[in-house]
Amino acid sequence: MKSIIRGIGMTSQRTRDRLVERLRQQGFRNETVLNVIRDTPRHLFVDEALSSRAYEDTALPIGYGQTISQPYVVAVMTDLVIANHPGKVLEVGTGSGYQAAVLAQLVDKVYTVERISPLLTRARRRFRQLGLQNVRASHDDGNMGWAAFAPYDSILVTAAAAEIPDSLLEQLSRNGRLIMPVGERDRQRLVLITRKEDVYEQEEFEPVSFVPLLGGHQ
Ligand code: SAM
Repeated sequence: MKSIIRGIGMTSQRTRDRLVERLRQQGFRNETVLNVIRDTPRHLFVDEALSSRAYEDTALPIGYGQTISQPYVVAVMTDLVIANHPGKVLEVGTGSGYQAAVLAQLVDKVYTVERISPLLTRARRRFRQLGLQNVRASHDDGNMGWAAFAPYDSILVTAAAAEIPDSLLEQLSRNGRLIMPVGERDRQRLVLITRKEDVYEQEEFEPVSFVPLLGGHQ
């Protein structure tokens, strides 16, 4: 685990411990990920008006019809992303920047793409504020991935689609892992793709509810 961004802000250690305890009660066991979630100041990734709810295990609005993901889902996705000890990770759907900040403490380099410009501006400000120098962010349509820095050891998509975009599969390294919510609104599941040479193996995990992966950027 690298840069620990412990202690920034006003929330008590007890509030953060309660969140971690709740994730354990739901069966989440990866202590490395739990420590990072405890140390990452989620209240800095939501509007001040919502900061008192930042350590609840729930998704919260971040504007523009988007959400910061539920901590339990962030924990599960992070666990799947880091299982192959990736050096380089691509995230599609920066949103608030929270998931990227969690990953940045666990891998060498995070590339993250967001289609809504004001969300990306805020997320970049947070990365700077927290001294996360290993996150690089781009304003673009993440359906195309980020070809300039491909291939990636892991790719994480934090918005749902009926199908996994081909560009993302192509930008995965050998033995790379791609984690993404797949399916229509009420019937999404987390899907893990593992690339073995030119064969892609697929596993399905729990039901989830994510905003849609849209096209273009604004
Ligand atoms: N990872 C985020 C966080 O930690 O706050 C949560 C992301 S939110 C559930 C999904 C994000 O995906 C939104 O910010 C949305 O604008 C973005 N998104 C949707 N389609 C996209 C696309 N084609 N390219 C890039 N970002 C996209």
